[in-house]
Amino acid sequence: MYLEGVVKDVNSIRYMTAEEMEQRGVRVFTNTEITKVIPDKHEVEVLDHVSGQTRKETYDKLILSPGANPFILPVPGHELQNIETMRGRQDTIDLKLHSVDPDIQNVVVVGGGYIGIEAAEAFVKAGKNVTLVDIITRPLGLYLDQEFTDILEKEMTNNGMNLAMEEKVVEFVGKDGKVSKVVTDKGEYPAELVVMSAGVRPNTAWLQGAVDMHSNGMIKTDEYMRTSAEDVFAVGDATLIQYNPGQTTVNIALATNARRQGRYAVKNLEEANYPFPGVQGSSALRVFDYKFASTGLNDQMADRLKIETKSVLLDQDTLMDFVPANMKDRMLFKLVYDPKTHAILGAQIMSKKDLTANINAISIAIQTKFTIEQLAYADFFFQPEFDTPWNLLNMAGLKALHQENES
Ligand SMILES: Cc1cc2nc3c(=O)[nH]c(=O)nc-3n(C[C@H](O)[C@H](O)[C@H](O)COP(=O)(O)OP(=O)(O)OC[C@H]3O[C@@H](n4cnc5c(N)ncnc54)[C@H](O)[C@@H]3O)c2cc1C
Repeated sequence: MYLEGVVKDVNSIRYMTAEEMEQRGVRVFTNTEITKVIPDKHEVEVLDHVSGQTRKETYDKLILSPGANPFILPVPGHELQNIETMRGRQDTIDLKLHSVDPDIQNVVVVGGGYIGIEAAEAFVKAGKNVTLVDIITRPLGLYLDQEFTDILEKEMTNNGMNLAMEEKVVEFVGKDGKVSKVVTDKGEYPAELVVMSAGVRPNTAWLQGAVDMHSNGMIKTDEYMRTSAEDVFAVGDATLIQYNPGQTTVNIALATNARRQGRYAVKNLEEANYPFPGVQGSSALRVFDYKFASTGLNDQMADRLKIETKSVLLDQDTLMDFVPANMKDRMLFKLVYDPKTHAILGAQIMSKKDLTANINAISIAIQTKFTIEQLAYADFFFQPEFDTPWNLLNMAGLKALHQENES
């Protein structure tokens, strides 16, 4: 929102200031890095970035939330200037400056996930010539199935974005130390600015030896957020999280997950009494005029986890025929379920109207193991200005029942 100019003051983009946290009893140390954790002694080594001094502190309990770093493709030229990432305050300020820099006309965004799409849209709106490069076949292909991304691809290209899908970046070429071109295995794109949004890697190298980790560097935790080290807990992007629809743990880098895990770490500090209830991976985004949200399994995730699913798709107006056209829009809703148990496993929704809250209902349905039978006849309101006599969630449940030759 700051990049697009909707929010004007970068300093206002925060959950809470350090002073507000202090008022609530938290001692906050900014510009301070923990360089080492010594679990046997319940000690951490601390580097004060302002004074340059190091010191040791002791802890009774330690909660780690070190986050993740953007992945920089290790191809020739990756160290050139104007190859930027998009994570945190300074990156945001740098990108905003680039967005008004008249010397930057061509922007290449590497990675068509949530962050790449947000960056690409912001630079299109800033009047730049934007190319989005990704090695996968469809932008947002990890989050949405093809029925949805077909529409979004059209929306992106209609708004002037160039899509270079199924292309692998092989080199960044520079001029006077600054990036000037991105070379892929299929083409070349002029670029005075590159935004790297090709995923993240856990920021855990400094924790080697202190806590057990998975081979990909994620910190191992149990369902109480406990690590292998006594009295040390870990949460957030550097951990795996219980993923209910797949009954497994995966990495889903979302603030909503990190926040929830943080609360559970605190609940379990004294005694391990509260197992983490897991997540469905619910998320949402706006792409130009479209608003979409998804939760649980989609085609890609079901394939990856080798889970058999069936689905139904609603493609219809948001309101009834007699309602004037200017009050309604087209909407797409996909419901994914288990063909054996009929349990609901996932859903995606997209429209120019904001229908995203329906996905929160499906998230709860997945968590509580609701079935298509229950969804078909669940008690949802009808009001002609808001929905149809059978709410879209009922209709998806009914369509799934029909597909299973039931009613
Ligand atoms: C552009 C962008 C938009 C996003 N939008 C959304 C959204 O709309 N909704 C959503 O749910 N999620 C969103 N996310 C994801 C969300 O920001 C992350 O999932 C969340 O911040 C993860 O929290 P965390 O605590 O694990 O890591 P972080 O938020 O990265 O926090 C880690 C902190 O630890 C500090 N740190 C690391 N190592 C040390 C050390 N050794 N010593 C001291 N401090 C250290 C870091 O400096 C950092 O401040 C977005 C992410 C990006 C990049």
